[in-house]
Amino acid sequence: MILRRLSVVLLFFLLLAPPMHSDAMSIYQVASKMLYGRRYAALSSVAKYFSCRWNASKSVLRLVAQNGRTIAAFSPDKRTAVINGLPVVLNFAPGWQNGAGYISWSDFTGTLLPLLNRSSLKKHSPLRIIIDPGHGGSDPGASGRLGREKALTLLLAKELRAELSGRTVKIDGESVKFQIFMTRTGDATLSLENRASYCNRLRGQLFVSLHADSASSGISGIGTFSLTPPGAPSYNTGKVEGGTSVGHSWCNNSLFLASCIQKSLALKVRETPNRGLKRARFSVLRNVNCPAVLIETGFISNRTEERNLNSPAYRRKMASAIADGIVAYFNQVNTK
Ligand SMILES: [Zn+2]
Repeated sequence: MILRRLSVVLLFFLLLAPPMHSDAMSIYQVASKMLYGRRYAALSSVAKYFSCRWNASKSVLRLVAQNGRTIAAFSPDKRTAVINGLPVVLNFAPGWQNGAGYISWSDFTGTLLPLLNRSSLKKHSPLRIIIDPGHGGSDPGASGRLGREKALTLLLAKELRAELSGRTVKIDGESVKFQIFMTRTGDATLSLENRASYCNRLRGQLFVSLHADSASSGISGIGTFSLTPPGAPSYNTGKVEGGTSVGHSWCNNSLFLASCIQKSLALKVRETPNRGLKRARFSVLRNVNCPAVLIETGFISNRTEERNLNSPAYRRKMASAIADGIVAYFNQVNTK
């Protein structure tokens, strides 16, 4: 009888409960609901989670810090957002329903958390860095008027190695140097699988792949890729895949590493447009067992960018910016 009375009371409260639920299963306690066939987090609840507020004006949804600074700006139905000043391609477009904004659960946990909350990142001490100059040997990569992608990526990789060799980071008050390795140091043909297995064999703690882009239009700019989380569409194929690879265990750290590097590139290489952060299931990003990024350093199909990439001074500036980003990442995730 008591049990029956209890269940009537329980049923009464269940009926009163709003359709959106505060997810008791989740450690985040962020309200969510199903939209467009997938789970979305309510922006009002997300704002509370990050101790900020949200507003909507001129069809832009914003997360705003206590000091008035916009932390993130989203447009309903558009996948490009601006988070901490960087353009970011979201996993799914944000939603807008009955005067409320929503962000996909995949972007709450896989995009906003790693970019806005350092405590969501895995702590480690990434001192062993693998630099991967894209293409090489029988694979020339993209072609420009002045040369091939494989030659430019190698020149930039050597510049980055020199730059990182000169850097130190502090561990327990001691200055410590990075250990740097390159997947190739000459014009060698190397499969994508070999690049990843080289990194894993050496127990690489950070993997940086360097490429240059090409397009038939006059498009230009620098962009940094990290691994697409499971269940989200890859930028290069548009395909949604649920399976995980070894790289997925570092997915959030990889996105944060990409943001540190891209932020630094935007700051130091001001003459080149900032194309921001994108996610793709590139083989090297999937298969290395550490945080990994792939930097598209510019378009060699664009005359100005090809000329820049062929300039030693420009490459030095770019290498210095990438090294700054790596040091910034190290300082925020180091545990030793
Ligand atoms: Zn390439």
